[in-house]
Amino acid sequence: MTKHDADQFTVKREPFYKEVGGEVALYEAAYARRMPVMLKGPTGAGKSRFVEYMAWKLGRPLITVASNEDMTASDLVGRFLLDKDGTKWQDGPLTTAARIGAICYLDEIVEARQDTTVVIHPLTDHRRQLPLDKKGELIEAHPDFQLVISYNPGYQSLMKDLKQSTKQRFAALDFDYPGAELEAEIVAAETGVDAKTAGKLVQIAHRSRNLKGHGLDEGISTRLLVYAGQMIAEGVNPNAACKMTLVTPLTDDPDMRETLQAAVETFF
Ligand code: ADP
Repeated sequence: MTKHDADQFTVKREPFYKEVGGEVALYEAAYARRMPVMLKGPTGAGKSRFVEYMAWKLGRPLITVASNEDMTASDLVGRFLLDKDGTKWQDGPLTTAARIGAICYLDEIVEARQDTTVVIHPLTDHRRQLPLDKKGELIEAHPDFQLVISYNPGYQSLMKDLKQSTKQRFAALDFDYPGAELEAEIVAAETGVDAKTAGKLVQIAHRSRNLKGHGLDEGISTRLLVYAGQMIAEGVNPNAACKMTLVTPLTDDPDMRETLQAAVETFF
């Protein structure tokens, strides 16, 4: 691996991240021991942003993989490709991360099939190894390599859950939407809307979060609030902006949409 490879995964600018509750120091201590870490929480609550921020702070390259149910072990580890000169091995993202000493972030790992998930096992214990079975190579992870996964407990079902044998290889940090004041600060900082508008958006989100399990699978995330703020900052009428970013994406149920729209109209 050349330096160039590590460079392309470096987080160049400091990501904007507001600490919620001591997670920065906890992560740093875990990283100091190269402990695998699981970030648990609903979508759009800041997990990816946090890893980006930590990679920047620790000066480590970051390789992110979005997991899906069709993902195979080869998608993570690598495969032989056919080209005009014959077959050529191509490292997958996990292999690249292990070689260059990156933080490897497997987003929404529950989506992956269990036979895919087990390839991370030898990297998460004292072995810190990755066997490339097809290639007949055993990689010793770079001393700076660390594995991070995200996990949304809300989507958990009997069919889709991490095995205990996978779960118990990670330390875990809970992520939830930040407290109202902090979340409003984040929305204002990310979008440029004033504090009052940001505060109203957060209150709409709180109403929707109370509907979780009562017709909604998830409440409005911080990510969607940032979208709403961006539309408003573009000069879009707040009501229309909220409809497009907070109501329509969240649900197709007409009654639920009406309830959410009513919440929007209380504030805008
Ligand atoms: P997740 O990975 O949990 O799905 P993200 O990290 O993508 O969520 O967060 C979604 C958006 O919410 C981010 O792009 C960012 O704008 C905002 N955000 C959430 N939490 C924070 C935070 N603590 N500091 C800064 N921005 C945040």
